[in-house]
Amino acid sequence: MTGLSIAVVGAGIGGLTASLALARQGHAVTLIERRTGFSEVGAGLQLSPNASRILIRLGLGAALRRVATEPRRVVVRAIRSGEPIGQVALGAFLRERFEAPYWVVHRADLQTILLDAVRSEPGVRLVMGRSVETVEDGPGEARLAWVSAGGARETHAADLILGADGVWSKVRRALGDNSPPAYRGHVAWRATLARDAVPAELAGDETGLWLGPKGHVVHYPIAGGRLVNVVAVERTATPVDGWAAPGHRDALLGHYASAAPALRALLSGPREWLRWSLFDHPAGRLAGGRIALLGDCAHPVLPFLAQGAALAIEDAATLASLLGPERPDLARALASYEAQRLARVRRVQREARRNGRVYHAGGLVAFGRNQVMRRLGPEGMTRRYDWLYGFRAPE
Ligand SMILES: Cc1cc2nc3c(=O)[nH]c(=O)nc-3n(C[C@H](O)[C@H](O)[C@H](O)COP(=O)(O)OP(=O)(O)OC[C@H]3O[C@@H](n4cnc5c(N)ncnc54)[C@H](O)[C@@H]3O)c2cc1C
Repeated sequence: MTGLSIAVVGAGIGGLTASLALARQGHAVTLIERRTGFSEVGAGLQLSPNASRILIRLGLGAALRRVATEPRRVVVRAIRSGEPIGQVALGAFLRERFEAPYWVVHRADLQTILLDAVRSEPGVRLVMGRSVETVEDGPGEARLAWVSAGGARETHAADLILGADGVWSKVRRALGDNSPPAYRGHVAWRATLARDAVPAELAGDETGLWLGPKGHVVHYPIAGGRLVNVVAVERTATPVDGWAAPGHRDALLGHYASAAPALRALLSGPREWLRWSLFDHPAGRLAGGRIALLGDCAHPVLPFLAQGAALAIEDAATLASLLGPERPDLARALASYEAQRLARVRRVQREARRNGRVYHAGGLVAFGRNQVMRRLGPEGMTRRYDWLYGFRAPE
């Protein structure tokens, strides 16, 4: 039996994982990416057990272990006073409970590991520097057209087109969704700094989370512990363009003027910061005809639950398992894919929005939040996420 021909649009974390998993199922994958190379854009990325389990199953565990760190816990503090609010258990507790680690990695490290695996997979043809412009479904095949940097246009036919082209997806339109993602009123700033440049009390093997009504800050060690990734979220009415709009330290420090001294010292470290705006879009159809969507293209999610990459990885594994090695019934597999994924991705989108409100609460709501965290304790806080981290893609 021969596999399907599948065109995957977008070689982000979702597209790379899907290409690898689908090729391993015996399908012939053409992976199309508009960028001409993979430069180091983006910074830290959290891989909770629902995602790390899948990557380990794809044989990437050893490579990831070399670059990942496994924080022991999340320490939650108040931005202004610096007072501890609570903790969330990670490390060994979480690894044993979910039989997979909670890793934090540099986005570029994960991308490189996935790309190396894809490049050594004979079932994947990687086409770089081509931007997919149009996607059309049809009864016998689906077709897309891509344009190279020089303007040359080519068409390509496949049994299935899988959109993995991120939040500003073109493929999503082929399923009838032309509405743009919605800006959610926050811009995130990111920077990395050498671990020895971080205030000593914040340089441990843990994730720091600082909460306040005007924003929040997250930091954790990445790159095997050599660097610390810092993300500071600011409430602001105007979005910025792209993933890497430059931002200056003084503007960020102005926003966090009344933060505790240790947090201000951390934010004072990097001079230059990169910013991106937080968008989401309600998950609609995930598949229809010969088109399917995954990751941010299907259901962009706010980063307040750190699940953007994890959901894309879950989607990829689920779809590949439904498109088994025997030539599968495509219509049935895609219907199952949508049925299995939709409720879950909607729940994650909802919970991420809710987490944003909880993180940025003030007054009585913040008081109640802090009481709950103290009462639950570190392990109780982790257990609340059994539904999230316990996910297992079908084999
Ligand atoms: C450059 C970049 C930097 C990022 N930085 C961060 C960060 O710092 N923090 C964070 O939380 N998240 C970041 N993200 C988002 C994060 O990677 C995703 O939320 C998550 O990994 C889900 O990924 P995805 O594969 O669904 O989509 P994405 O990671 O967005 O990947 C989509 C891919 O599709 C390609 N593409 C888009 N349109 C076309 C087209 N028409 N034709 C061909 N290819 C196309 C893009 O170039 C990209 O490689 C970043 C994404 C990108 C693309």
